[in-house]
Amino acid sequence: MSLIVKKFGGSSVANAERIFNVAKIIIDDYKKGNDVITVVSAQGDTTDDLIAKAHEINAENPSKREMDMLLTAGEQISVALLSMAIEKLGAPVVSLLGWQAGFETDTNHTIARIKKINTERLQNEINKKKIVIVAGFQGINKYDDLTTLGRGGSDTSAVAIAASMKADKCQIYTDVDGVYSADPRKVTGAQKMKEITYDEMLELAALGAQVLNNRSVEMAKKYNVELEVLSSLEKKSGTIVKEKVKMEKTLIRGAAKDENVACISVVGLKDSPGVAFKLFNKLAQHKVNVDMILQSVGRDLTKDISFTVPLDQANEALEAVKSLSDTFEYKDLIKNDSIAKVSIVGAGMESHPGVASKMFEALYDAGINIKMISTSEIKISVLIDQKEADRAVQVVHDKFF
Ligand code: ASP
Ligand code: MG
Repeated sequence: MSLIVKKFGGSSVANAERIFNVAKIIIDDYKKGNDVITVVSAQGDTTDDLIAKAHEINAENPSKREMDMLLTAGEQISVALLSMAIEKLGAPVVSLLGWQAGFETDTNHTIARIKKINTERLQNEINKKKIVIVAGFQGINKYDDLTTLGRGGSDTSAVAIAASMKADKCQIYTDVDGVYSADPRKVTGAQKMKEITYDEMLELAALGAQVLNNRSVEMAKKYNVELEVLSSLEKKSGTIVKEKVKMEKTLIRGAAKDENVACISVVGLKDSPGVAFKLFNKLAQHKVNVDMILQSVGRDLTKDISFTVPLDQANEALEAVKSLSDTFEYKDLIKNDSIAKVSIVGAGMESHPGVASKMFEALYDAGINIKMISTSEIKISVLIDQKEADRAVQVVHDKFF
């Protein structure tokens, strides 16, 4: 007998038919003698719809406390409906909201972090042989106010329960059947992975492969909770996310693009010490998240610095640089948002030379120009024209798979 934690996303419980489908999956495992705790998200687009309703009342900024009061309702509906379905199918069940399941968070409304889970109630219900259905994405703070964990937070709720209850399995069900080496809707030859490491998953998620919420993967890594990503609609094995995996033939786990970037170039800066420090210090003060950085070799006493930022921070970044015009001079400030970042990720590249050159060769053969390059131990990224992004992912993927 094992303790299994399952999590079903909004699309898996979008309507009555899907809810019964989920209920059957849960009861199947329960009937085999397992204890089952299941976390669910709000149905379909409920959370988006609730946000839209809030903005009908106050378009600028409804208070975050009231936002949480509103958004937690989405998950309250789905836990009740799923429990009713399980009742109807004749199994013992109880639904719990986040606070009832012991989720204590900090006070940061709409992006709260879990501080701890008081597992007493969960344990009691399990001891009574009940299936437990828990509302994802929510908790309670020290003022007894409801909080939410940030968009996609139900994954984190599930991992937190798995960690604190020392579950034997944590299964995240979605509408795709696993994690792929590239977006299967766009890249021919994309392959489903049997296994992937936490670090690779974090890099791929950051690149827009949104299968698992980032925080949940960080938490799974921290508490060493093995995750399985699988489909709620098809019965087949998914992808396991864990600390170390056997390297297969290929060195690269996946290729992805991120079009959500802008490149800012500060041209003709004075070539003297402290310029980079002042520039990036200012950007940090403005809470701008800088990713790739390129500084040209100084020539004629001037140099250029270019860097990339998330698209929605581009204007903030421009403002930050402009506010420095008293501190140092530059000739020109340029924003380019028709670019994309294409990356390959794989823990195997750490110990194998030649991966970067292979990627660059694929791009060269396809006549795609590289504007910037950055690398980490397990990732190589290039900045290219946005028009070429899909083709770039395809040719790079072809080269390695
Ligand atoms: N319902 C919330 C959202 O849509 C939480 C989740 O789905 O994980 O962001
Ligand atoms: Mg959702």
